[in-house]
Amino acid sequence: MPVTMDTLVSLSKRRGFVFQSSEIYGGTGSVWDYGPLGVELKQNIKRLWWRDFVQSRADMVGLDASILMHPMVWTASGHVDKFTDPMVDCHECRHRFRADHVDARPWTHYCPATKGNKFVIPAGEACGHCGARRTLCPECGKGELTAPRQFNLMFKTFMGPVEDEAALTYLRPETAQAMFVNFDNVLQSMRLKLPFGIAQAGRSFRNEITPGNFIFRTREFEQMEIEYFVNPHDTVEGRPADEWWHDRWIADCMAWFRRYGLREENLRLREHEKAELAHYAKRTVDIDYLFPIGWSELMGIANRSDYDLKQHSKFSGKSLTYFDEERKEHIVPFVVEPAAGVDRALLAFLADAYQEEEVRGEKRVVLRFHPELAPVKVAVLPLLKKREEIVRTAHGIRAALSRHFRVVYDDTAAIGRLYRRQDEVGTPYCVTVDVQTVGDRDKGESGDGRVTIRDRDSMQQVRVPEGELLPVFRGLLEDGDWGAVVARFGGVTADAGRSREGDP
Ligand code: ATP
Repeated sequence: MPVTMDTLVSLSKRRGFVFQSSEIYGGTGSVWDYGPLGVELKQNIKRLWWRDFVQSRADMVGLDASILMHPMVWTASGHVDKFTDPMVDCHECRHRFRADHVDARPWTHYCPATKGNKFVIPAGEACGHCGARRTLCPECGKGELTAPRQFNLMFKTFMGPVEDEAALTYLRPETAQAMFVNFDNVLQSMRLKLPFGIAQAGRSFRNEITPGNFIFRTREFEQMEIEYFVNPHDTVEGRPADEWWHDRWIADCMAWFRRYGLREENLRLREHEKAELAHYAKRTVDIDYLFPIGWSELMGIANRSDYDLKQHSKFSGKSLTYFDEERKEHIVPFVVEPAAGVDRALLAFLADAYQEEEVRGEKRVVLRFHPELAPVKVAVLPLLKKREEIVRTAHGIRAALSRHFRVVYDDTAAIGRLYRRQDEVGTPYCVTVDVQTVGDRDKGESGDGRVTIRDRDSMQQVRVPEGELLPVFRGLLEDGDWGAVVARFGGVTADAGRSREGDP
């Protein structure tokens, strides 16, 4: 069964992934805070995106621009005039909606055919008793809605100590514009040749009319954006270079989400219709994900033509061109923009990883994160917390591995429960230290120096020499090939899940 949003919200809070912002003051409902595990997961998403799309490519460079920019940036980009959503208000309850989202909500109806009984009718459906369709406010079912008015989504603020029109600027609503504004700086300083891309990950702000659905739509969020510049006169495989690269980026982004665990059947491409296309776009394709709220946009990949560079050139009076050596002419590059939301990616990875299963009559909740995404890579668990050598050895392992990946130590419950706790936050591997590892001095028995690694997904256990842990985990975290570890060290046992074993 697909996981519900309520389940994810409650797990996120309980296990330290995401908290409501300012919760002790009642929260805001439009922004969220990432807790100790959420921040690790979020950083892993950004790190992998950077590694795969920037670090490992010769045609990509990075940028980290400021959030506050010259206000003319937003006039030139079209955001001051066009970055709006249509808004309607209810005359009765004053609830505010995005006009284009009203029909996507369930609606409240006082049905005349049933003496005015109140019903909540699914989105887009008619009343089963009187056949009426929604005309009034979907929230209260009583008020008329105003005609749509355009509402600009940019947050206004003032730069400097005087709050007047001259000091007015905006919190950036996307990271993209800084990459256009810095086009020439990057081109000249790095001596780049087309095609090349600039990438940036950072915060964006949108005063969304109806934020909601947990971290899906918030007023402050993070984006990972790429502006990939191509020469519009070039061709690749007989096609215009911008069109070829657009398709290439769509395929690469889809492959990236699949590689880190999103299931094929939960991903789809959605081509924007002509009427829906943004004013600057030649073509836009969204990658949609089957979120708990239904199919929705995970990221967009737009061919923005030469619109942005031309606009900024016009408004700034500076040339933003590229000298085409072959044709001996200055050209304005076209740009392909893969724009992803970090928070939406995190929500998708969380939803896809979540599984409930029954293990020996007990419910096991497990987040099957790709090992590279998992917030904690290894949990070190002593089997007996009263045995000093066991505890010392376990702490030593944690300290040694922590130099390389996020590792935790936990001895606050019985081993069965400790395993379940790690399953629930997606830790791919646990290491347990027991009497066999350290031996028993009183009995004159020496230890074998081996510890148990337990695999989250199969729940199999293998004993491995302590000194081999680092190379073994390095391999596992890269390719997740548990079978290779089993083949090498053998002696597989099943995690018995005994909740009393080693109970401190
Ligand atoms: P939507 O149609 O959902 O409002 P959009 O098409 O306006 O999104 P873009 O401007 O293409 O979004 O931004 C790129 C990405 O940034 C989106 O695909 C999404 O992942 C993320 N994003 C945009 N707005 C928000 C938001 N309010 N909260 C969280 N993520 C967002």
